[in-house]
Amino acid sequence: MITLEQCQAWDQADELAGLRQQFDLPEGTIYLDGNSLGALPRNALVRAQDVISREWGVDLINSWNKAGWWDLPTRLGDQLAPLVGAGEGEVVVTDTTSLNLFKVVANAVRIQQRRHPEKKIILAERDSFPTDLYMIQGFSEFLDQGYVLQLIDQPEDLEKAVTGDTAAVVLSHVNYRSGYLYDMQSVNELVHAQDALIIWDLCHSIGAVPMSLKESGADFAIGCTYKYLNGGPGSPAMLWAHPRHRADFWQPLSGWWGHARPFDMSTEYTADAGIRSFLCGTQPILSMSLVACGVDIFLQTDMQKIRRKSLALTDLFIQLVEQECSGQDLELVTPRDHKYRGSHVSFRHPQGYAAIQALIARGVIGDYREPEVMRFGVTPLYLGYRDIWHAVQHLKAVLHGREWDQEKFRVRGQVT
Ligand SMILES: *Cc1c(COP(=O)(O)O)cnc(C)c1O
Repeated sequence: MITLEQCQAWDQADELAGLRQQFDLPEGTIYLDGNSLGALPRNALVRAQDVISREWGVDLINSWNKAGWWDLPTRLGDQLAPLVGAGEGEVVVTDTTSLNLFKVVANAVRIQQRRHPEKKIILAERDSFPTDLYMIQGFSEFLDQGYVLQLIDQPEDLEKAVTGDTAAVVLSHVNYRSGYLYDMQSVNELVHAQDALIIWDLCHSIGAVPMSLKESGADFAIGCTYKYLNGGPGSPAMLWAHPRHRADFWQPLSGWWGHARPFDMSTEYTADAGIRSFLCGTQPILSMSLVACGVDIFLQTDMQKIRRKSLALTDLFIQLVEQECSGQDLELVTPRDHKYRGSHVSFRHPQGYAAIQALIARGVIGDYREPEVMRFGVTPLYLGYRDIWHAVQHLKAVLHGREWDQEKFRVRGQVT
């Protein structure tokens, strides 16, 4: 039996516990949704004030040079590169994950058109976050060159599905619903053995699990900064491309920010030779400026320590749910095996939606994903062991007391 006292002892021994002070979290809330929208770093308020009042208000247009606004996408890319195992000059922060996926799929297909024009399949998972599938579909329709999206139903099907016809494979490193984690290295090898290219969506793994994009030999990666990285709602996404593709960097959204010499105001587009070629137009500087605040906190520790605590907390969550909520129709969706587990825990429950609403009413914020999946994000920077204990006690009360069985908890907001 795990007890509250035990959780308290774990909190006292937790070397990451002090980092919570750097977040501004509302009193009385246990936030288990940092995998969807990260919490507010305290220094973001200070930074926002400075960007707005000094950089914008006083220095005005000089800030493109003086405050380094122009270089912000690559500066932030360099700052977060260590979190994903990328090198300097290999990452940009720009646009959205959806848009960045479009660019890297286009780049991968362009490379394959030259090397292996007979390859026409883009492989992804049926269980992908839908925008990924929509973007691939849109790209293929627009290109109109016979590229088809093929979907696998489960990770175990990947090995057979990657064939000589596969041009590119697009996978979520951690699945947004189940929390399943792919072994990046072995997938890269499997994909490359068929001369296909691999694109990783890191939305649910960046800032959650350690990875070595470059060393593992991945081709492209894209991902959010507003989830585990705490960049703020709608903060721009990241994009990484392996430097071995540098001579082949190309993307169709060839806006002036990707130009080698944008202020030549030339009629001809000449792409930047490096990762800036993945930029398109003017960036949302206010939002982008805050990305550094979240990443700064990560750089005070390291991903191995974060991973150790993440696994301890997700283990604890699973064990406590099984200890406290047995017989309540909960079915664990997330892999038990650490090798295949990201940093959130999902349970299916027939009343999952209403149960999540009842939990939110108690100050425990998780979220819901169709079908029937209650999702709990575990963020080691600002969650402790006692938070997990209390969250499970609330879940127990909601389920045992059938608190979900109220009309007000069945009402669906625009965002679930
Ligand atoms: C959150 C998420 C996205 C979101 O893409 P946006 O363009 O930022 O809306 C994409 N893919 C995955 C896997 C996600 O989890």
